[in-house]
Formats: sequence, structure tokens, C-alpha cells
Amino acid sequence: GWCRVGCRRHVCSSPSRQQSCMSAWVVDQYGSNGVLRYTEEATLPTVNSPSEVMIEVHAASVNPLDIAMRAGYGAKLLKLRRDPASVMNSDSEFPLILGRDMSGVVVDCGSEVTQFVPGDEVWAAVPPWKQGSLAQYVTLTEYEVSHKPESVSHTEAASIPYVASTALSALVCAGGLCRENSSNKRVLIIGGSGGVGTFSIQLLKAWGAHVTVTCSHNAEGLVRGLGADEVVDYTGGDFAEQLETMEKFDVILDNIGGDTEEWAMGLLKPWSGAKYTTLVTPLLLNTDSMGLLDGAINAGVTLCTKALQEVISNGVFYRWGFYFPDGPALDQVAKLVDAGKILPVVEAQFPFAQVPQAFQKLEHGHARGKTVVQVV
Ligand code: NDP
Repeated sequence: GWCRVGCRRHVCSSPSRQQSCMSAWVVDQYGSNGVLRYTEEATLPTVNSPSEVMIEVHAASVNPLDIAMRAGYGAKLLKLRRDPASVMNSDSEFPLILGRDMSGVVVDCGSEVTQFVPGDEVWAAVPPWKQGSLAQYVTLTEYEVSHKPESVSHTEAASIPYVASTALSALVCAGGLCRENSSNKRVLIIGGSGGVGTFSIQLLKAWGAHVTVTCSHNAEGLVRGLGADEVVDYTGGDFAEQLETMEKFDVILDNIGGDTEEWAMGLLKPWSGAKYTTLVTPLLLNTDSMGLLDGAINAGVTLCTKALQEVISNGVFYRWGFYFPDGPALDQVAKLVDAGKILPVVEAQFPFAQVPQAFQKLEHGHARGKTVVQVV
């Protein structure tokens, strides 16, 4: 029916005044897929501050972080960020709603919201310290939200925000790249066939960079189709040697971690400002296992030691990349999507009733783009 809060442009279903619950997938304890529970009695996330926007979720997507958070990853640090006063209360985050991406329609706005009105189609990446998007509604701060690209469906749009925000933070903030300076840069993406990789290839090609990608043999067609200039099959025995025969790189984006940096660091141009940015960092694992203070200090020492070692011995910068919420950055991505320069890469779609199956699919690995959940 027509929206009850007075949407001007869209038919949407805003909650009625009496409604205090919504449907959502929640976890009440950390564990394997069995902890996911469907409920129609999750707390409705109403607008509580003047800068908040309440959104009806049409589609969400799942990310490796959801699998990890389901099992408790990052719990200590995220709990601190959620509610600094409740650090000592061990159960306060439950029932927890996972899901980091969303595309949907605004149903309510705080009094100081200037960029959105009810009825606007929006997309966003939901910060891990907030209740997630595997739910009928989410409430976010205005600066975390962006107008959805008009040329794609909610399902397609939901595949982009979290990997886009992460890739932008890794490539721009840590890697020093931007639209203006990328055209003469050689970039290596280690792990190009998943969510972050498929987005990063397209962004870098839109900025004019030369892009080399490592992936499995059967993902070559996908990454070439997205614009990759050179593709190296990491399952072939001699892939490191193959990479060594290539001209050296200005930026490496490492989506894989493990021992990758040991063999890949030498592929950067020495003494010319080249940067190695990894998305696989020990920060949250450390705070989980050692506690907040010791874990953070330990991670800080690890980062500084490696960074110093690399700059002194090889003349390259070593950095960690992290997702952070940035609505205005998504506005820029929306323009690239509407210009046809970035295509959503949706590998699998699941209805809302099958969220556990979506998690299972992602947990199986070998992603080729994104797994999306249709909520409406
Ligand atoms: P996905 O699961 O979507 O993709 C991973 C891809 O890597 C798959 O296509 C997989 O396919 C491929 N792959 C696996 N092993 C290798 C290898 N050795 N070399 C090359 N490719 C490989 O993950 P995302 O793209 O969403 O995320 C990438 C990483 O970044 C994850 O570890 C994630 O946790 C991390 N991340 C960190 C963030 C942060 O804030 N620090 C934020 C977002 C993500 P196949 O196995 O078939 O080759």
C-alpha cells in the first residue's frame, strides 16, 4: 500500500505507529550456522537522534565478516564501540543482527536530516558495531547513507556498498590512489575474484590504472570481463615467478593475507613511494584473544615494526586497510554505477527465508562476486 508516513515518490511499507517489532535474522550466541534464528519480534530500530535515517531494507548481502562475526570475531572491540558504558556486560550485544550491506527506501528521518526524505531509494554499508541489514529495517546516521544508483535494482545495489567502502579506504586512504593520479599506476590485486576484488578491478579501470589480478583459473573470464589487463592463475605452480617477470607495481592490494606479503612485497617498485595495503589484519583477532588493551597494543607494535622494516629495507610503505562508513564516497560510486563503469557482480541470490543458506554458500568459499539476500 501507500506509505503511511507520506512518501511522495514510492510505495513502501513504513511501520505503523503501534509497531515495535520487525522480522530479522538474529544470533543469540556465537557459533556455527545453527545459531542463526528467524524472528518477527526483533526490536524496531526507530529514529532516536536528529541525524538518523530509518530505512526499509529491500536487499542485503553477506560478507566474510558476517561469517566471522557469527562466530564471535571482533566481539570485544565491537562491543566497546557499540556502547562504551557496557564493556563489562558480556551479553549486551544479543540478539545481534548481522548483514553489512543494504539497499532500500527511507521511511523516517530525524529532524536534522538534510539529504534524505521518506521515499528516497538509498544504499549503505552498515558499520559492524550497528545492528545489521538482515532485517526489515535499519537505522543509520545520515552520513553513512547515500542515494542508490538509479540504473540498478535493489538486489544489484546491495552487492556493492561494503566492498566499495572497503576498497576505497584501502586504495585511497592506505594506497594513496585517486581518480586524478591512477592513470600511470600499475596495481596488483591479490585475490581478484571475490567481492572486494571484482569491485576494485572496475574502480581502478574507471580511474585508468593498469590492473593485474591473481585468481583461480576458472575466474579468469570473470576478471578479464571486468577489465583486468593481466591475469595470473595462483593455482599454477609458477605464479610467483610469473609475477616476478612483470614490471614492478606501484600499489598492491592484498585480499588474501597469510604468507602473501612474504613473497609479494618484492613485487613493488623500490624507493618510489610504492604501497602494500593488506585487508587481512590481526587487529580484531588480537583484541579477541588478548583483551582490548593488550590486543590493540600488540597489533600496533606489529604494524609499526613491519612498516618500519619495509620502508628501511625496501623503500616501500606497508599499510593496513579497514572498512569505514562513508556515505559521500558511495555517492561517487553511485555515479560510476549509473555511468555503466561499475557493474554489480551478483553471483547468487537467496530469499529472506534462506539466510542460513546464503551464509553456507559464502562459507563454502570460492566467491565470484557477491551473494545477495532479497529481503522484500
Ligand atoms: P570473498 O570471499 O568475496 O573473496 C575471496 C576470493 O579470493 C575468492 O574469490 C577466492 O576464490 C579467492 N582466493 C582464495 N584464495 C586465494 C589466493 N590464495 N589467491 C588469490 N585468490 C584467492 O572476500 P572479499 O573480497 O569480500 O574479502 C577479501 C578479504 O578482505 C577477506 O579476507 C575479508 O575478510 C577481508 N576484508 C577486510 C576488511 C577490513 O576492514 N579489513 C573489510 C572487508 C573485507 P578461489 O578460492 O576460488 O580462488
